Amino acid sequence: MAYASVYPLVTARALAREFTYEVPEGTAPGAVVEVRFGNARRRGVVTEVGVSPPAGVEAAPVERVVEELPATLVELALWVADYYGSTPGRALALVAPLKRKARGQRPRPAERDALPGEAEPAELSESQRNALDRIVGAIDARTGANILLYGATGSGKTEVYLQACAAALERGLGAIVLVPEIALTPQTVGRFTARFGEQIAILHSGLSEAERRDERERIARGEARIVVGARSAVFAPVAGLGVVCVDEEHDASYKQESDPRYDARTVAAKRASLESAVAVFGSATPRPESWGRLERLELGGRLSGKLPPVRVVDLRREAGYPLSAPLLAELGAVAERGGKAILLLNRRGVAPALHCRACGLTLRCANCDVALVLHGDAMLRCHHCGHAESEPRACPSCRSADLARLGAGTQRLERELEAQFPELERIRLDADSVEQPGALTAALGRFASTDRTVLVGTQMVAKGHHFPGVALAAVVDADTGLALPDFRAEERTFQLLTQLAGRSGRDAPGRVLVQTFQPDERAIALAANHDVPRFLEGELARRRELGYPPFRHLVRIVVAGPDPAAPLQALSELRSGLPAADVLGPAPLLRLRGRYRAQLVAKTETPRRIAAQASRLLSAAAPSMRRAGLTAVVDVDPQNL
Ligand SMILES: [Zn+2]
Ligand SMILES: [Zn+2]
Repeated sequence: MAYASVYPLVTARALAREFTYEVPEGTAPGAVVEVRFGNARRRGVVTEVGVSPPAGVEAAPVERVVEELPATLVELALWVADYYGSTPGRALALVAPLKRKARGQRPRPAERDALPGEAEPAELSESQRNALDRIVGAIDARTGANILLYGATGSGKTEVYLQACAAALERGLGAIVLVPEIALTPQTVGRFTARFGEQIAILHSGLSEAERRDERERIARGEARIVVGARSAVFAPVAGLGVVCVDEEHDASYKQESDPRYDARTVAAKRASLESAVAVFGSATPRPESWGRLERLELGGRLSGKLPPVRVVDLRREAGYPLSAPLLAELGAVAERGGKAILLLNRRGVAPALHCRACGLTLRCANCDVALVLHGDAMLRCHHCGHAESEPRACPSCRSADLARLGAGTQRLERELEAQFPELERIRLDADSVEQPGALTAALGRFASTDRTVLVGTQMVAKGHHFPGVALAAVVDADTGLALPDFRAEERTFQLLTQLAGRSGRDAPGRVLVQTFQPDERAIALAANHDVPRFLEGELARRRELGYPPFRHLVRIVVAGPDPAAPLQALSELRSGLPAADVLGPAPLLRLRGRYRAQLVAKTETPRRIAAQASRLLSAAAPSMRRAGLTAVVDVDPQNL
């Protein structure tokens, strides 16, 4: 018998430490064990073997060994806990999720989540060949590397991932491919499944517990050597990792917004360095962080010709909204000559706000400081807390019946299209229309197979779909994201417009239209020119001046409570305990779900130190904060401000 340090998988911060247990001979770090913990039976992860129990403590034996994980995953999880200010128990639960009992045979998720993908090309382009040679050389060197694969939509990034994965397999190594949201990328899944068949495992949050367990076991047994999945797949138990590819690396969904608040892109780089593997980050619109810091391989433009011209429609000179005269003309051409169109409007519902023309009141959520959104079922809904109420006939304040519907959402756009072009089929893609499982893949499949069809939706329509015959792609309101008080507002707008423009005309001369009230905005003007390098250089210059990422890290601390003053007060006290470096705030934030909120943002070269110090101060203040009903969150490298 030997002794081992075991971290119990519990969430309580007070128990966030190792305990000594007796383990069977041959147990190694990475073993998941079942232990007696207090009066309960818990799972735990062995982090070290060959330790001696503390003096005077009799170590209990573990009940059984449940599973064995690669030891580097334990190291990775402990790093996540430390860097993101979480607990080892919570971070280890990411690499050792709970297993359920097996129940019969199920269809493999790869079959359900896939749309047919393109066939393997006869040969690679020169730039694809060069990029692949560099990546495979780095896999062989086994010294670890971080590479940015930059190329326009249609330039063949996925083929480079596919062949890099094949090269890893030939060398007896495994691979992980991260995609932003698996439901939005059925074609990527289809291409991997078509190429590698049974060697593919799929991991994402839409799987049932049983499906996830099946896939994890196929990975652990070495049957599936390539894992395709959303952010949590970065923790997949692939032994001997050769390459990890992060597709659409600019996508904000790589950041987890609950504890542990990890960023799968940062974790991918860390895992690659622990395993001497290669991390490849691919995008047509890379983050400034990646552009500024990573070795860059360029694929150049699209394989099948030039990017489509973009026409900017100045809404200040147009009467029609949401459909301006130029947009109506383009849609008319689709109705007449055939083809498909994609319309992006990044707002759900019928109208983003109801406004009283008599007294000026905007109807707001009672729990949150945001306008209620009118939906097609005559309900007003809060997009933050889910509160819903019937659309009133009169202003609740002055009783006037003169209520105006401000702006337009996807449902109104769909109705206007129906009125103007009844001959065009409409498919709406937003969080409301794809609530049912399978609805999204069905909608995308229908769009792929029908002519004279318009896909109307939120940012979902700009993600990695590749449909032949898209004659028109249009941004109905490019200004929606620019007003957000976040230093990434321009970056996000630029990415969204450039990504959507890339959806048009992949095999045909497509047209792109961008409607905006601010045609001179940098993000809009440069996206219209497909000028990614110039946008990123400008963004980096601005961020250098302001001390934003990648030049410094951010640590965000949010406190929420039942009244407006206490969160600000708590943060002022916290601030006095932090190093005098650049700390912004405290500043009040929007009230959400009835809770008043405020934040501090620290710009720092040492995010772990600041986060650790903030956590210590918050722990010390915990009893009084609890009495005041306050909660706090520390977020390292936040993606939303
Ligand atoms: Zn009124
Ligand atoms: Zn609300």
